[in-house]
Amino acid sequence: MNKIEFKEVGMKYHTQVEETEALRNLSFTIKENEFVSLVGPSGCGKTTSLSLLAGLLSPSSGQVIVDNEPINGVNEKIGYMLQEDYLFPWRTILDNVLLGLELKGELNAKTENKARRLLADYGLDGFEDYYPTQLSGGMRQRVALARTLVFEPEILLLDEPFSALDYHTKLALEDEVAQILRDEKKTVVLVTHDIAEAIAMSDRVLVFTERPGKVKEEYNIDLTIDGKYSTFKAREASEFSNYFNSIWEELDVYV
Ligand code: ADP
Ligand code: MG
Repeated sequence: MNKIEFKEVGMKYHTQVEETEALRNLSFTIKENEFVSLVGPSGCGKTTSLSLLAGLLSPSSGQVIVDNEPINGVNEKIGYMLQEDYLFPWRTILDNVLLGLELKGELNAKTENKARRLLADYGLDGFEDYYPTQLSGGMRQRVALARTLVFEPEILLLDEPFSALDYHTKLALEDEVAQILRDEKKTVVLVTHDIAEAIAMSDRVLVFTERPGKVKEEYNIDLTIDGKYSTFKAREASEFSNYFNSIWEELDVYV
C-alpha cells in the first residue's frame, strides 16, 4: 500500500523581489514501512519536500498525499527531525523529551514512562536530569529522536540528522537509528548528502535533479547481508560499491 504519494508537485517560493521554483512535477510514491532516502544537489528542494509532507507548506501545484488523503495542515502521523537538535538548553534531557507532550496536553504518568523507556532504549539511562550541553552531539541527536518518536508517528522525516556529527559518531548513530526504525516498522524519508549513508540505511534511494527538483533516477537497494542487518554489514556487501558508483555518477554532473 502507498503510504505517501507526491503527485506532480510544484512548489514556488515568493519573496517581494523574486520567485524561486523549488520543485516542478515531482512525483514518487513510498510504501508503508519503506525507508527511502532523497539525495541531490544542494538547493534542489529536498527540505522543501519534507516540509510539504509535514504540512508546514502547501504545494503551489499538484498534491501531497498520505494514506490516500491530500495533506491539509500539520499531520499528527508525521514526526520531523532536523539536522540541528533544537534542544532547549535550560531544560533537562527528560524535560526536553516531555516538552511536546506537555504542549499537546498529553503529559501523564503513562507518556512520561514511555519517554523514560525510550531514553533508556537509546542508551541514555541515567542522563535524564542532565542538561543538553553536558551531552555529546550523538547523545543529543538520540534525545531528539526520542522526542520525535514519543508521539509514535507512523512516518518519520529526517533532514540530514547526522551531518553535524563527527564521522565515528555518525556511523554508530546511523546504525542505531536504522535498527530502531526497522524494529519499529516506521515509514521513513531521510534527506542526506551522504551517498553511502543513503545506501546503507535505505530500501530505496531517489536521486533528485538540480532545482527545480524532480526525481531523476531511483535505485532499489538490494544488498546481500549475512545474519542480522546492520549498516556496517550493508557497507561491506558486495553490491554496495556498484550502487555507490552509479549514484555518484548521477550526481557528479553538478560538481
Ligand atoms: P535542499 O534541501 O535540497 O538543499 P531546499 O528545499 O532547502 O533545498 O531549497 C530549495 C530552493 O528553494 C533553494 O533555492 C532555496 O534557496 C529556496 N528556498 C527554500 N526555502 C525558501 C524560502 N522560505 N523562501 C524562499 N526561497 C526558499
Ligand atoms: Mg535541505
